[in-house]
Amino acid sequence: MKALDELTFDNRFARLGDAFSTHVLPEPLDEPRLVVASKAAMALLDLDPAVAETPVFAELFGGHKLWAEAEPRAMVYSGHQFGGYTPQLGDGRGLLLGEVYNDAGEHWDLHLKGAGMTPYSRMGDGRAVLRSSIREFLASEALHALGIPSSRALCVIGSSTPVWREKQERGAMVLRLAHSHIRFGHFEYFYYTKKPEQQAELAEHVLNLHYPECREQPEPYLAMFREIVERNAEMIAKWQAYGFCHGVMNTDNMSILGITFDFGPFAFLDDFDAHFICNHSDHEGRYSFSNQVPIGQWNLSALAQALTPFISVDALKEALGLYLPFYQAHYLDLMRRRLGLTSAEEDDQKLVEDLLKLMQNSGVDYTLFFRRLGDESAALAVTRLRDDFVDLAGFDTWAERYKARVARDGDFTQEQRRERMHAVNPLYILRNYLAQNAIAAAESGDYSEVRRLHEVLTRPFEEQAGMEQYAQRPPDWGKHLEISCSS
Ligand code: AMP
Ligand code: MG
Repeated sequence: MKALDELTFDNRFARLGDAFSTHVLPEPLDEPRLVVASKAAMALLDLDPAVAETPVFAELFGGHKLWAEAEPRAMVYSGHQFGGYTPQLGDGRGLLLGEVYNDAGEHWDLHLKGAGMTPYSRMGDGRAVLRSSIREFLASEALHALGIPSSRALCVIGSSTPVWREKQERGAMVLRLAHSHIRFGHFEYFYYTKKPEQQAELAEHVLNLHYPECREQPEPYLAMFREIVERNAEMIAKWQAYGFCHGVMNTDNMSILGITFDFGPFAFLDDFDAHFICNHSDHEGRYSFSNQVPIGQWNLSALAQALTPFISVDALKEALGLYLPFYQAHYLDLMRRRLGLTSAEEDDQKLVEDLLKLMQNSGVDYTLFFRRLGDESAALAVTRLRDDFVDLAGFDTWAERYKARVARDGDFTQEQRRERMHAVNPLYILRNYLAQNAIAAAESGDYSEVRRLHEVLTRPFEEQAGMEQYAQRPPDWGKHLEISCSS
């Protein structure tokens, strides 16, 4: 276990130099205070969890202090936003403080979001508000606990610094961890600004540090791109299987590691709704729940375009062609497991699709349905769940098919079935209304609810005594919360 001053830095991205990022110091927040910290994320840096409570912790992650070995940098990148190309974006309100390597030999980027203005702030103030910082913190740690690849969050630091959005709010910072903060948009930036040398340097950097096994392949860059395609397909399959809607799948928010990244107006589905749009500002529904699958491929095509100096167009097209099959394989595998099935049959895809249609028509809670399906034997569970459906005849037909399929799957005791299903079907997810309750309390200075909710979400598959209220469908006020980009 380490104290805060015992971290070891190795700032590999900063060493790429000024063409890639700009030195900027964090702008401190007034009266920094700990809102919430993740012990599991602290463990990634070998940090003693007790240090979160020390004043120096809030000073470091509230922008007041810095390690001598840290080299805070704002990264430059560009990206396609809602389909249109923006030639220059970059870290407008976040800084890569440095890269820490832990005792296991892993490097972790320390990225401080809400750290003040940078040369890439454009019209923004460089700040993040408490509300969005809490949402990012909770989502990062909740996704990780669900087994969905994600950036991690070490802590949220609150403050008395006023920040203007639609109304006056308070500034906060969230410390994000990832093995890399390089986005699709990094490659696009050097491609469209016609800087082939830097682009090659970037590609070498990513290959050497993040995809070293691809070096052994006959065409290392192509192997790396294939790997990126596969990781993105797997990540999006998990989003779809668990009902996660990212909200702003612009290419500047897509990680080259295939992790969920740059949270904005994200949401987990309450009622199943394939057409759900979580971002109030996404008028066309470009990033609606079901569109996430084709958009994943669209984003990979934008990355492929930026990689044309290194890889032939034919090879890129072939690699892009792997996206949908990879996606479908991962998605179906997870959905089978959510249904409690251990074998594969040709018709399983249809069984899943037909269930989702019924859930869509009746507004059935996506999370609780699967959890309850495992609570009791298939026959008993469908009898109880029947009441949630409007189209009873439709559900009965599906239930007969499901029971027959379960019978063909194998001879398991209900105990085995429940254990297997509960291990993939969460009881607790980060519902918007739960986040909203925690935010309202935190905005009035009470951080206990954020901390409790975070604790519950770190063990989403385990029933936790006294936490029943976190496993409920939203009340009416919590069903249609409008979340926009103004974070
Ligand atoms: P996002 O959609 O949140 O990923 O942000 C898109 C771009 O806007 C990125 O370059 C961000 O750094 C920048 N940005 C977002 N909010 C702010 C802000 N409050 N101040 C400065 N830049 C911002
Ligand atoms: Mg972003």
